[in-house]
Amino acid sequence: MQSSDAKKLAPMARAAMGLALVFAPMVVAAMENPHAIHRPSPALMEQLAQLAAQPQRPVRKELVWSGADIDGDGAPDFANPTGAAPRGHDDFGDGRFGARRDGGSRSHEGVDYVGAAGQDVHAPISGYVTKIGYAYAGSSDLKFVEITNPALGYVARAFYVKPGVEVGDSVRLGQPIGTIESLQRRYPGIINHVHLEVMEPGGERVNAAELITQKTVVRA
Ligand SMILES: [Zn+2]
Repeated sequence: MQSSDAKKLAPMARAAMGLALVFAPMVVAAMENPHAIHRPSPALMEQLAQLAAQPQRPVRKELVWSGADIDGDGAPDFANPTGAAPRGHDDFGDGRFGARRDGGSRSHEGVDYVGAAGQDVHAPISGYVTKIGYAYAGSSDLKFVEITNPALGYVARAFYVKPGVEVGDSVRLGQPIGTIESLQRRYPGIINHVHLEVMEPGGERVNAAELITQKTVVRA
C-alpha cells in the first residue's frame, strides 16, 4: 500500500473506531441480557396471546342473489322468489326473458326461477297483494299472485304459486307468499319453477334477470 492511500484511509478508520466506541457498550449490554433492549410490553404480549388463542376461521366466498336498489335508499327492492337460478333449456323451451314460445309466435314475458314443488315462494317485491288470478283461462289449477308497490310504481306477478296470502295483504320483500305448485300435470317433464313477470312504471314488462343478479360475498 502506498503511503498516500494510507493517508486517505486514515479518516475513515478513525470514524469507524469512533462508531465502535459508541456502540460497543450497547452490544455488551445486549449480550449480557438479551431482553434488555427489545423486551415487548406486557400489553403487546397480551395481544399476541389473544391472537394465538383465536381459532382460525377460514374465509368463504359465496354467490348470493342480490336485488336492484331502484329508489337508491341502499336496500334491495327485488328478491329471487325461489332462491335458485333461472330455468335453462328443457323440452318446453328456455326460462329466460324473451325466449321463443309457440314456434316464435310469441315471446316469454317473464323469467322462470327453478324450484321444488311445495317449497316456499318469496315476495319478489314489497307492496300489497292486488290480485290473485288464474295462470290459464279456463283452468283453476294454476294461480298467480300479483304484488303492487305504489312507492316504486312496480308490479310483480309470481305464477304457479299456491297462495298463502290474500288480496289486500301487505307483504315485505322476501316474505313467503305461498308455495310452488307442480307443473307436471300441465307440462309433463318440465322443470318446476315460478314464472316471474315484472312490470315497470307504465306497465311495460321488463327482464327480472337484470333486477335480480348474483354477486360474490365474503363470509368470515
Ligand atoms: Zn315462464
